[in-house]
Amino acid sequence: MTDLFSSIDREGHEQVVFCRDRASGLRAMVAIHDTTLGPGLGGIRMRAYATESEALTDVLRLSQAMTLKASLAGLEFGGGKAVILGVPSPGDRRALFRSMGRFVDSLGGRYVPTEDMGTYTADIEQLRETSRYGVGVAEARGGGGDPSPMTAWGVFCGMRAAIEAAGLEPGLGGKQVIVQGIGKVGMALVRLLIDARADVAVSDVEERRLEEARALGARPMGNAEIHREPCTILSPCAAGALLNARTIPELRCPIVAGGANNQLATEEDGDRLHARGILYAPDFAINAGGLINVADELGPGGYDRGRALGLTERIEPTLRRIFAESARTGSPPHRIALRLARERIENRARASG
Ligand code: NAD
Repeated sequence: MTDLFSSIDREGHEQVVFCRDRASGLRAMVAIHDTTLGPGLGGIRMRAYATESEALTDVLRLSQAMTLKASLAGLEFGGGKAVILGVPSPGDRRALFRSMGRFVDSLGGRYVPTEDMGTYTADIEQLRETSRYGVGVAEARGGGGDPSPMTAWGVFCGMRAAIEAAGLEPGLGGKQVIVQGIGKVGMALVRLLIDARADVAVSDVEERRLEEARALGARPMGNAEIHREPCTILSPCAAGALLNARTIPELRCPIVAGGANNQLATEEDGDRLHARGILYAPDFAINAGGLINVADELGPGGYDRGRALGLTERIEPTLRRIFAESARTGSPPHRIALRLARERIENRARASG
């Protein structure tokens, strides 16, 4: 118990909820990090976690990242996230998400869920059968649909800013890009990169996804040592912590820019990248497109794709500003992004007394 509260205290989380429903088999955790700017918005991740403490660490880190992401993107939302432990058999899925919906609803809107790794639009729609809260529903139901293509578009725009800041020839054409994790975000990104005539290589733990990417024109690679492959841009789009004390010395790319959350194992890993002269696009800055898209469902007049697109495309100038300040001050980009995100929250907290 002492450990639990010290984990929650460390990064200033407001609330952590443990959800258990024997009938559906649901075992889930919801973490609400900070609601200064608004309700905690963030996806539900479903994974077969090796341990409960791994799941707790994930939900705590992810919800914190959502706070930063929403703040930097200028959204009126705070940070929240949920994890469902274990992956159910297809027949149990509806019961599981209906059960999850009841827990989400009981939080009275303090947490608004959407899709993340391992969860899909259909899951959120089933969750909405029992919850008033939940975004990322199909356009036919008044939502913005799967947010992943918008996430990928934001990452693509952010890559352009990174290429410019790294002093390379502008545009993605001819650039070698390695995408790790070709799920909803990664595959959408691969499509954009191929359209832009980049030279794209991919890795994943699931063979069938590699075949799909190959059909699009990407080159499959082994996943285990992907970080060592030479390329212009390494794009992590799977689980977190690809960038750590072991992998960073082995990277052979001038830029890291991807859609995954929590790409750095620790904040110090961002300093390590900077010390190696590798330009890192802070994850919570570059991958905000999906969050922007789902937040828009709750905007005035409901979902407006043009408005969400406009805000997502602001990721490019935001990153340009971060990279320019980094070049001017010598401070690593992730430190600058952290400061900007935290300043907005602090200012709001001061203003509301
Ligand atoms: P997804 O579940 O659709 O896809 C994840 C892919 O990564 C799968 O193909 C999976 O097989 C693969 N994978 C898992 N572990 C791997 C590993 N160790 N090595 C290589 N591949 C691995 O998930 P997604 O929605 O595309 O999300 C991917 C990442 O982007 C996550 O970190 C997520 O939090 C982040 N993200 C997603 C969105 C969104 O709109 N979906 C928005 C922002 C951030």
